[in-house]
Amino acid sequence: MSTTITRHLEAETLMSYAAGGLAEPLAAVVSAHLALCPACRAELADMELMGACLLGARANQPVHGGVAVPARPRDTAMAAPSLSAPSLTAGHDRLPGPIARRYGLSLETIPWKRLGPGVMHHRLPLSGSATGDLRLLKIAAGRRMPEHGHAGGELTLVLDGAYGDETGTYFAGDIQDVGEEIEHTPIADKELGCICLVASERPAHFKGLFARLLQPLTGM
Ligand SMILES: [Zn+2]
Repeated sequence: MSTTITRHLEAETLMSYAAGGLAEPLAAVVSAHLALCPACRAELADMELMGACLLGARANQPVHGGVAVPARPRDTAMAAPSLSAPSLTAGHDRLPGPIARRYGLSLETIPWKRLGPGVMHHRLPLSGSATGDLRLLKIAAGRRMPEHGHAGGELTLVLDGAYGDETGTYFAGDIQDVGEEIEHTPIADKELGCICLVASERPAHFKGLFARLLQPLTGM
């Protein structure tokens, strides 16, 4: 298993996160990756510093939001950890801190429900007004997931094991930052299987994906 995170957040995603502009499920996955990844924490810190400088330069002008606002609170459950936070590299055996603390879970206590052959899931509740979908997926070794497109952004963070698709292989700690234009067919590692945290900007995407996952059961 890899011990180094090689797949990171897109700069655009980090910028939106820094500005508080990401949908809640996507922000949750960003927080989880940041807890594991010193490189992305450093990039976020640079962006926030740049934002603070821009704000300082505009001290006498009204600010109307935008990427220069580094106003994300540091003391909430989903806030990015500080640069001095301990680095958890790939191969860790527990959920990233922001998810574990918010939902009171560990990798061993996730109440999995069967979604289809070789596929288990656990949906993580969002706050009242939030839209999108956040869930943990557990894919059996070698299990191929149906090819699917994306209606809105999707972030996948590997927590255990690995998976591969047309774009490469993703190990524990790696993140796949998928835009709307991508279609892919993830396959869980043939020995390790895969547990991942998946966020979708829009629930419609997951309805379509899960309907197809359930096809072998329902015969639809
Ligand atoms: Zn990273």
